[in-house]
Amino acid sequence: MALATLNDLIKITTKNKNAVGMFNVINYEYAVAMINAAEQVNYPIMLGVPEGFVKNYYDLDTMTSLLKYLATTAKVPVAIHLDHSKTFETTVKCMRAGFTSVMFDGSALTYEENVEQTAEIVKIAHAMGVSVEGELGYVGRNGVDQIDPESFTKVEQAVDFVKRTGVDALAIAVGNLHGNYSFEPKLDFDRIKAIKEATGVGLVLHGGSGIADDDFRKAAELGIDKVNIFTEILDFGKKFTLENLPDMTFLQYSKALADAMTEVVKYRMEVFTCGRTL
Ligand SMILES: [Zn+2]
Repeated sequence: MALATLNDLIKITTKNKNAVGMFNVINYEYAVAMINAAEQVNYPIMLGVPEGFVKNYYDLDTMTSLLKYLATTAKVPVAIHLDHSKTFETTVKCMRAGFTSVMFDGSALTYEENVEQTAEIVKIAHAMGVSVEGELGYVGRNGVDQIDPESFTKVEQAVDFVKRTGVDALAIAVGNLHGNYSFEPKLDFDRIKAIKEATGVGLVLHGGSGIADDDFRKAAELGIDKVNIFTEILDFGKKFTLENLPDMTFLQYSKALADAMTEVVKYRMEVFTCGRTL
């Protein structure tokens, strides 16, 4: 199938009133496992690369070549996405490497700085055929930040932000936090619906690990187009390794982990798609 942009996928999720999953890729085995899951569910997927990985964990061109090959040979549309970039340099570098979608996270900046820097990224990205996700409101981190309705995304500001930046999608703060929740997260569904109706752009839910399946389905019906999952696959990989590695050869373990990861991603995707296929 084809390498897709976030915008291509939003057209599909808008029509189907559901969401695609974005899963961060740690290594080759995970990328293959994720593509396998997407093909089995028969729905598009987004392979995510956080800015920190580009800087600290692997060579960008090598990883992009690999992901591009997997995407173009997959049976479903696949987008290659930069997750939470806070710098102009990394964002442009990933666009040049061949990413089809980038998130520029200016949520820690002042509102005006966030508008200005995101708009600059959008101008370059759109000229290159790349989609852009911005962040408005502040999605904090479990263990560090509290749920604070004051930092939730405001409808009027979202309208202004979309108009002035031209972003294709918006990560919103609606009761979600990154990392592992120590409480049951409660999403502000009315706010999701209102932001979707007012802006018309794709909406993204970060901090998906730990949100109840039915809440995901409801959020997708009301306007969430993309859900980010990272903590869940990170934790699953660790648990699987501690439980299984002692009794296997490293080769057996690598294959078994990839197979198990396919099942984890498949389960999440089935929830996000609300049972619909391409
Ligand atoms: Zn995030």
